Amino acid sequence: MPRLAVIVPMHNEQEMAELFLARVLPAAKQCTNDFEFIFVNDGSTDDTLARLKAAANEHPFVKIVSLSRNFGKEAAVTAGLENSSADAVIIMDADLQDPPEIIPLFWEKFQQGFENVYGVRTDRGADSFLKRITAQTFYKIYNLLADTPLPYNAGDFRLMSRRAVNAVLALPERERFMKGLFSWVGYKSAAVPFCRAPREAGKSKWNYWRLWNFALNGLTASTTVPLKLWTYFGMTVSLFAFVFAAWTAYKKIIWGNPVSGYTSLMVVILFFSGVQLITLGIIGEYLSRIFIEVKRRPAYLIDEKINF
Ligand code: UDP
Ligand code: MG
Repeated sequence: MPRLAVIVPMHNEQEMAELFLARVLPAAKQCTNDFEFIFVNDGSTDDTLARLKAAANEHPFVKIVSLSRNFGKEAAVTAGLENSSADAVIIMDADLQDPPEIIPLFWEKFQQGFENVYGVRTDRGADSFLKRITAQTFYKIYNLLADTPLPYNAGDFRLMSRRAVNAVLALPERERFMKGLFSWVGYKSAAVPFCRAPREAGKSKWNYWRLWNFALNGLTASTTVPLKLWTYFGMTVSLFAFVFAAWTAYKKIIWGNPVSGYTSLMVVILFFSGVQLITLGIIGEYLSRIFIEVKRRPAYLIDEKINF
């Protein structure tokens, strides 16, 4: 059982296969000589797998879990975690945006007894203005609603003890919002600040539509407040409606009722049809996820494993 495992999800990262090892190997050696690298090939359509295999041929500590198709980063990380047996597990992106120099700092914290050590981006200069704003808004809303808060600007880049990893793996859900799961399991946690570098090579797999769905997944997985909110909204509105109805009836009795009020009628109808559609949509969001969960499909399928 190695002491340290580095888990790297890879989707079309052919440029990074060798670059990554060259940069991260010295950092891992600084911690211990007993380590393994687990590369998860997440359905790459380029040369990634071939290059990983070449590296695995050369180094016995390079292990590959190749998935049967692209399952997304969350599933790929889960596959890596499930196939590691190390005492401490580090998760990092393949593109070296997570600086390897931080790994010894993570290790140091682990030696001090911390079991959930996460990197926190001190500067998001590498991201666009829009991405920074949307990310910040997401964290704000998430922390307002979810039971366990997410540390601001903490990504997936982290070290976890075997105990914490086992706890994450014991959570049975299929839709895996890893950041949320990591913070949910708790244990003695520490933050290590770092600067996020721009991508070393290749290009980002995320666009705003994917990020939006990622955010929705995260929120619906961690809170049911959006579902329950409408009860209170409905109660408040009904209260106003009763008062208004009484007032209208009173007016009718006292002054009669010359037909008027087209505008207010339209405004009220349009407003509440909008609200109703939104609530239906929110119910749909949860319902679709319940549907996915009850199907109980595996989060990923493995095509082949190398050097295990
Ligand atoms: N990734 C993956 N499967 C996917 C998309 C991404 O395994 O479907 C990996 C990718 O290879 C990289 C990490 O997830 O190692 C982060 O992806 P990326 O750098 O594109 O995201 P960003 O840094 O732009 O948020
Ligand atoms: Mg990246």
